Amino acid sequence: MRKIPQAEASLPLGRAAGRSPPGPILLVSAFVFATETQPTEVAEGVVRLGTDLVNWYLVADGDAVTIVDCGAPAYFDQLDAGLAKLGRSRADVQAVLLTHGHADHTGFAERARTELGIPVHVHKDDEQLTTTGKAFGKAERPMFPYLRYPQAYKLFGHLLSAGGTPPPVQTVTTFSDDGELDVPGRPRAIHTGGHTSGHTVFFLESRGILILGDLLCTMNPLTGSRGPQLLPRSLSLSSATMLDSLSKLESLEGTIVFGHGDPWTQGVAEAIRQARATGPT
Ligand SMILES: [Zn+2]
Repeated sequence: MRKIPQAEASLPLGRAAGRSPPGPILLVSAFVFATETQPTEVAEGVVRLGTDLVNWYLVADGDAVTIVDCGAPAYFDQLDAGLAKLGRSRADVQAVLLTHGHADHTGFAERARTELGIPVHVHKDDEQLTTTGKAFGKAERPMFPYLRYPQAYKLFGHLLSAGGTPPPVQTVTTFSDDGELDVPGRPRAIHTGGHTSGHTVFFLESRGILILGDLLCTMNPLTGSRGPQLLPRSLSLSSATMLDSLSKLESLEGTIVFGHGDPWTQGVAEAIRQARATGPT
């Protein structure tokens, strides 16, 4: 395996929400620097939540619901509105499923696990990242080249105000093989390493939805650049591996939803073509 130069991504994220449950002050300040996304059904039984900076999703299947990614800690406050959009309640939520173990995706996972009494599923190669509570882990490039973009400050300022570095998830349920997962919605897991080692996308074929996590985005969280593209190098382990991972998705068809940016409806192949043309960001 090619050795990739790595730099520890160090981000100004405190552990504000890790010590105590969000209180009224956090509720007031949670969405500073960001605009809250109203719960939106992006496909049958699939609801988008979060902010203009970070997305998370609910997937309904009959009476049961899976939470896919958990944004920042304060995003837990959006759960009831999202469930109401689906005509469901907290008692119907059966699982948390994480695309990967970064802090802007694990947000309220530990709180959901303990308060709702549900398992948190993540690929085995991201188990350590998820359970040790590192914000972002290793990256192929340092953060400083991105600090000339106002968008970077907007993101980090927002994450700080929305709970800081999430508490580690104490216990996770891991999967390692591609294929259908035994959670509501029965998404097909496709391991697409590169952003993190265990990064995985989830395909809901019958709904025509591909939940792409942070393999690609349509809004670069550090530069603000729009259109399908890889996540920036300072947040990814290996852009080369991410580009390789894209080949696993070429034959899929459907709408793509992302960790960052709006849904993409112009085809999976076209998103991949544009991301390859742009290259590492
Ligand atoms: Zn990420």
